[in-house]
Amino acid sequence: MLNIVLFGPPGAGKGTQSERLISRYNLVHLSTGDIFRANIKGETELGKLAKSYIDKGQLVPDSVTIDLLRSEVLKHDNPKGFIFDGFPRTQKQAGALDEFLSSINSSISMMLSLDVEEDELKTRLMKRAEVSGRADDADPKIIENRIAVYKNETAPVKSYYDNQNKLIGIDGMGSVNDITDRLYASIDAN
Ligand code: AMP
Repeated sequence: MLNIVLFGPPGAGKGTQSERLISRYNLVHLSTGDIFRANIKGETELGKLAKSYIDKGQLVPDSVTIDLLRSEVLKHDNPKGFIFDGFPRTQKQAGALDEFLSSINSSISMMLSLDVEEDELKTRLMKRAEVSGRADDADPKIIENRIAVYKNETAPVKSYYDNQNKLIGIDGMGSVNDITDRLYASIDAN
C-alpha cells in the first residue's frame, strides 16, 4: 500500500493537492477535518463535540480523533493506499496511526510536508473563506489560534517521521500546479 501523510499548516493546500494525488495514484482521501465538517452538517453527536473545538481553532481531543480515523480506514476494502490529510496532528496520533497500521499489516510510506510562509497562509485562508463558508477561515483571531496550535502541537510531528527517515519537505509556495508537480516528483522517486 502507498500510505502518504500530507502534512502542513492550515492553508498549505493539503485538501487541493490531495484531490490531485488520489486521482493519479488511486488512493483513498482521508481528511479528518472533512469528516468532522460532514458530522457537523449532519448534526451528529460527534459533530456537536467537534464543533465546540473547531469553532475556537483548537484540536479535537486525540481519543475521539484516533477512534474516528481507525473506523474510517476500516471502511475500505482492499485500498491501494491512503492520503492522510490533516491527520496525524499530534505525536500521540502519529504513534496510534503506526500502531493501527501495523495491526493491519501496513505502514506509512512517507510524509510529504508542505512548507508555506505565514503571511501567505493567512492570505490563502482569508481567500478560501469567501468560498468555503468556513467560520474558522473567516476570523483572523481563529486563524491566529490555528497557526499557533500548528506550531506548538502539530509541527513536532515532523520529527516523528524524520526519525523514521520518512519526512520529505516540499516547497509549498507558488502555483498549485507547480506544487503538484513537486509532490508527484517526490512520490515517483520513492
Ligand atoms: P482541517 O480541515 O484539517 O483544517 O481541520 C479543521 C479543524 O478540524 C481543525 O482546526 C481541528 O479543530 C479539527 N481537526 C481536524 N483534524 C484533526 C486532528 N487530526 N486532530 C484534532 N483536530 C482535528
